[in-house]
Amino acid sequence: MAKSPETEHPVGAFGWAARDTSGTLSPFKFSRRATGEKDVQFKVLYCGICHSDLHMIKNEWGFTVYPIVPGHEIVGEVTEVGSKVTKVKVGDKVGVGCLVGSCGSCDMCSKDLEQYCPKQILTYGAKYHDGTITYGGYSNLMVAEEHFIVRWPENFPLDKGAPLLCAGITTYSPLRYFGLDKPGMHVGVVGLGGLGHVAVKFAKAFGAKVTVISTSESKKKEALEKLGADTFLISKDPEAMQAAVGTLDGIIDTVSAVHPVIPLIGLLKAHGKMIMVGAPEKPLEVATFPLIMGRKTLSGSAIGGLKETQEMIDFAAKHNILADVEVINMDYVNTAMERLVKADVKYRFVIDMSSLKTA
Ligand SMILES: [Zn+2]
Ligand SMILES: [Zn+2]
Repeated sequence: MAKSPETEHPVGAFGWAARDTSGTLSPFKFSRRATGEKDVQFKVLYCGICHSDLHMIKNEWGFTVYPIVPGHEIVGEVTEVGSKVTKVKVGDKVGVGCLVGSCGSCDMCSKDLEQYCPKQILTYGAKYHDGTITYGGYSNLMVAEEHFIVRWPENFPLDKGAPLLCAGITTYSPLRYFGLDKPGMHVGVVGLGGLGHVAVKFAKAFGAKVTVISTSESKKKEALEKLGADTFLISKDPEAMQAAVGTLDGIIDTVSAVHPVIPLIGLLKAHGKMIMVGAPEKPLEVATFPLIMGRKTLSGSAIGGLKETQEMIDFAAKHNILADVEVINMDYVNTAMERLVKADVKYRFVIDMSSLKTA
């Protein structure tokens, strides 16, 4: 007989889970595995709320297994390490992002691209090597294999840094891979939310010129004055869009709702690259003509491998790149989710896990 989440492992854990497609989160007792020889166990201090968490608790992508404990922007303090762990020690600050496992031997894994391993194991709602379901960071305790642990830079803020483990690497990786990480590049960022606002910060830190493209004039002041973007383009303004045709080397499109992409492709120079990092639930309409004229690339990108995630966190610490966050208590999480649906947050909710009361 299958064991219950509370008894399948020896270490008691506590978090908040959704039980059905209402997505309502409530207290949940479960368990974590004993710390294996290559494992790192840590007390969760903060966990960011990613838009994926919202999709997953409501089963909007169709593969949610309930009960689900979301959270993949997890930072904390090491409480126990296995005998073969060399990366960190008890008391160190660490992070875990979207992945807790992969096959370790395929072509992608051997190239430090675990995010594209066909056997990757997501931090929550996935089947682990031992057959049990993974639970994420809306909880008091985590355990993960050393390989999937990110070392936290000294004195780097935990709450404002946590969102970088998903939102940060999701935008950093394509900026690097597609060569948009240098002075002289002109980068467009579509959508100014959790992903978009850190995309602006990374692109600026790389020395690129940044144009924020948004449907809403209301974000202009913030984009230019607070986030440091160079220009602001309202996608609903046909004249401004026309004037910007052929000006961008690349676009990071962070929008996770269905939206017109053909006008965006028009903003690219020849050989320009349009990279999708948001995941609308319905297909987008793409015409090939604007791609053909200018040999443009339409691509996608998912998070980053562990090596690159560590590099990203170290880069962020060096350049003081942090997410703009609203820190909340655990019992505010359902309200936070409602606000996230309306994009009513600047720009990321982060749960202070000290507010988690064990039942
Ligand atoms: Zn995420
Ligand atoms: Zn692999």
